[in-house]
Amino acid sequence: MRAIVLDAPDRPLRAAELPDPEPGPGELLLRVRACGVCRTDLHLRDGELAAGHTPLVLGHQIVGEVVGGDVEAGARAALGARVGVPWLGWTCGRCRYCSSGRENLCAKAQFTGCDRDGGYAELTVADARFCFPLPDEEAAADEQLAPLLCAGLIGFRALRMAGDAARLGLYGFGAAAHLICQVAVHEGREVYAFTREGDGPGQAFARSLGAVWAGTSTEAPPEQLDAALIFAPVGALVPIALRNVARGGTVVCAGIHMSDVPSFPYADLWGERTLRSVANLTRADGEEFLALAPEVPLRTQITTYPLERAEQALADLRAGAFEGAAVLQIA
Ligand SMILES: [Zn+2]
Ligand SMILES: [Zn+2]
Repeated sequence: MRAIVLDAPDRPLRAAELPDPEPGPGELLLRVRACGVCRTDLHLRDGELAAGHTPLVLGHQIVGEVVGGDVEAGARAALGARVGVPWLGWTCGRCRYCSSGRENLCAKAQFTGCDRDGGYAELTVADARFCFPLPDEEAAADEQLAPLLCAGLIGFRALRMAGDAARLGLYGFGAAAHLICQVAVHEGREVYAFTREGDGPGQAFARSLGAVWAGTSTEAPPEQLDAALIFAPVGALVPIALRNVARGGTVVCAGIHMSDVPSFPYADLWGERTLRSVANLTRADGEEFLALAPEVPLRTQITTYPLERAEQALADLRAGAFEGAAVLQIA
């Protein structure tokens, strides 16, 4: 099969011919139709996160068609069915996290496109229990659905951590924020969008999706926020966001990697403000979010690339060259 592989950190991804993957017990063989490009892929490519093995096939927002494997294993997937494969690829099912609804924290978890080969390829295998059934093709194209599987899902988990915050700040208006902005507006919240300095197009994009205010991350919003979600991998945003949330407010760090957080006065945390991170996803998050998506209804802004241009897609993501999400079109 054709695939794009990461040989080592900080080296360009390479096109390769790999043997077709072989599904084991309980696993499905999928023909990949589209795969979303996530900032986590960029962190792995740039060596800010360690790859589980090399050469590694990146990609954990996979829309695929079941073409073989253990189709009896999950009632979730008949031959020909369209399924989504997220970041959470496997968990132990037995530890104290797995047995208390927190499989996202399982220490033995395997992640798609990091520990397990992912979707930057024509074929992939996935544990049937961790695949999500997807709606009919008439309802949503492959490329539209792919970014929901991480950007949408992790963003949604971060939004839930913000409780019933009425005024919601989003720091970093990329793939996740553009989806979560729509969910938050749908839920009747006010969204305040913060972008990089000089990103007028990003701010206009945020307003077009219902944000009541958009500015740069160094600006104070016109109203104090009840919660802020930080999607940009910039630790310096943590004290800034804390200063902009009201007493009792929450700041959620939604990324898997962030630069160091600078020190800040305790007074910025005092007043029962909460600072927390969000890690990974549970299958329950996925089921809830994918059911909610058509109700909003979510519109995904995508820029598509052929599989061979995955390295360019990552470069464009690093440069902030597009609004919304990048998606590889494969089949
Ligand atoms: Zn576990
Ligand atoms: Zn991701």
